[in-house]
Amino acid sequence: MNRDKQETFTSTCCYCGVGCGVKVKIESKDTVSVKGDEDHPVNSGMLCSKGLNLQYTVNDKSDRLLYPQMRYNKNMPLQRISWDAALERTVAVFKTFIEKYGPDSVAFYASGQCLTEEYYVINKLIKGFIGSNNIDTNSRLCMSSAVTAYKMSLGEDSVPICYDDIEIADCFLVTGANPAWCHPILWRRVEAHKFANPHIKIIVVDPRVTDSCSLADLHLQINPGTDIVLNYAIGRILIENNQIDSNFIRDHTEGFEAYTQRVFEKTVSEAAIICGVQEASIRLAAEYIGDAKGFLSLWTMGLNQSAIGVNKNLSLINLNLITGKIGKPGSGPFSLTGQPNAMGGREVGGLANLLPAHRDLSNDKHRKEVQKFWGGATISDKAGLTATEMFEALHDGRLKAIWILCTNPMTSLPNVRFAEEALKKAKFVVVQEITDKAQTLPYADVILPAAAWAEKEGTMTNSERRVSHLHKIIDPPGEALPDAEIICRFAQKMGYKGFDYLHPSDIYREHSKLTARTNTSVDGLDYALIDSNKTVQWPFQKRKRTGTARLFTDHEFYTPSKRAIIHSPVDVLTSELPNSEYPFILTTGRIRDHWHTMSKTGKVSKLKQHIKEAFLEMNPVDAERLHIADDQIVCAQSRRGKVQVKARITNSIKPGVVFLPMHWGKALGSDLHRTNNLTSAYVDPLSKEPDFKYCAVHIEPFSKP
Ligand code: SF4
Repeated sequence: MNRDKQETFTSTCCYCGVGCGVKVKIESKDTVSVKGDEDHPVNSGMLCSKGLNLQYTVNDKSDRLLYPQMRYNKNMPLQRISWDAALERTVAVFKTFIEKYGPDSVAFYASGQCLTEEYYVINKLIKGFIGSNNIDTNSRLCMSSAVTAYKMSLGEDSVPICYDDIEIADCFLVTGANPAWCHPILWRRVEAHKFANPHIKIIVVDPRVTDSCSLADLHLQINPGTDIVLNYAIGRILIENNQIDSNFIRDHTEGFEAYTQRVFEKTVSEAAIICGVQEASIRLAAEYIGDAKGFLSLWTMGLNQSAIGVNKNLSLINLNLITGKIGKPGSGPFSLTGQPNAMGGREVGGLANLLPAHRDLSNDKHRKEVQKFWGGATISDKAGLTATEMFEALHDGRLKAIWILCTNPMTSLPNVRFAEEALKKAKFVVVQEITDKAQTLPYADVILPAAAWAEKEGTMTNSERRVSHLHKIIDPPGEALPDAEIICRFAQKMGYKGFDYLHPSDIYREHSKLTARTNTSVDGLDYALIDSNKTVQWPFQKRKRTGTARLFTDHEFYTPSKRAIIHSPVDVLTSELPNSEYPFILTTGRIRDHWHTMSKTGKVSKLKQHIKEAFLEMNPVDAERLHIADDQIVCAQSRRGKVQVKARITNSIKPGVVFLPMHWGKALGSDLHRTNNLTSAYVDPLSKEPDFKYCAVHIEPFSKP
């Protein structure tokens, strides 16, 4: 245990996927203080505004759920009950549905904020014992396009780089991301590197002018949805200028010929017109990339949250492959993870189409291996329902019961009014939560109070595959329990064997054993080893008792041919396009000081100072045409719903495009600030990730200026 006489513990920030190390000091029986961990390899003591205010989310218990509650039928109020009664009722209902309608009539919807051990037991429960693959998480909403593209290109969902590559790279292509606000500590490392080495080049690709642009040598303010066209144009220039690595392409890749044909389908000037940027700017970006010794491509939701998200990812990864900038210091494709443990969830196979240790659900051998290890029911070969599919299935009655934990879909799902209708129609809803403000609670038949960060023990894995151990530091309030314990108690009451763990470390050890002989192994790793190394990056090298900083240094990829695959998908946008009725493109995103649906950051007054309320960004040209003034309330309407927010008139967004932050939900009984009233039900056909970054809306003044 990293516990000293001052009652100080090491832990990891529970907000974004950067995974900064913190030191948590117990100040009283149930309050703590937090500061950055100076010895941590990720942040060297630095914290962003969210991390600096982490303690307030734990110390303020005013909104915490303290005991289980249940309603006997949909028309009755919730009543306080015991844990046994809550779980026994849930067991009875689940058993009834499973017997009557089959195992696919129930589902679990979890979160990239769950600890790895929590993901592991939920996944084991539903896939290994209930016999359904109906588990998905809100990581489907943020990372699944990157997961799919890594698998298609590199043979495995494996981020090849380590953060220390930042200080070695001399060209950064930051695309569909605003790390200055969303991954601030990583961005500070990029910033420090740039200040010390002004010759390094930073290219930012974003339809908006963001804070990240202030560090950029070049900002390509592309039209939304044109990323593939841009990446292909850059690829074409690199080929024309012979700034590719022909030996690497010949020896370690497949698909280059088809790629060459694809990128030569459009001239660079045609691409520039489609993207809405200068041809010279595209050529300059290609020059920066072509001249670089170390080239890092960084991306996140701008590429992932798209109806063509996988293809956007593939087109970007290709730039690293054709230049041979992968598996080398300072080089590689680097997807920035949104949530603190989206990576851990993928390790244990916590998505509807995965099995533990990145095994394939569709692979007969993989299913049998896992089934034998767990010793439970036959693992179904039918992929489970993904996040949005679960709510569609609730809506049409295929799915009877849903167990929602650690996530707030009533703000975060696209086309959220449809999801709300779906929850109303659900026969049985379990909500496992920490806060009484969760917008799922009005639909719950059973409410289970959960422990929060610092109140439970387990592990998380950050964006660079770095596993950290989070200690339990204080007790949860009231009768709240750690999420893994709740799931295990339920599983035991269902009569399933193998859920009688004495400690979270037992769950981790079981998970690590199941990863043996896989590309993403943590076999042999346990809490003591993580603590003695401070953190460990997988794959864990059991014999050397150490992690692995960088992947593919031998240029052998995880594909059957051991070659990376250069894919060349079409560049056609399949989003909901604007028309005369809905002429604007809506794109959505984060702001600096809030996290997801604000269930944590919304409690902290300091974090509410930066931006106090929802807003709609629009260009002055559009504002003038529609007679809209700054701060005037406007109504944005799509085919699915509307919102009313203040306009923010700014040149930082292109004409024809508007932006709404994603965080505000159904506050004070009104949903008029809830961005996802507008977003579409379109998803990427391969990753099933929703198209949050593109839908058609109509804008009009709501109030007089
Ligand atoms: Fe936490 Fe991310 Fe900020 Fe680091 S950068 S302190 S992990 S929110």
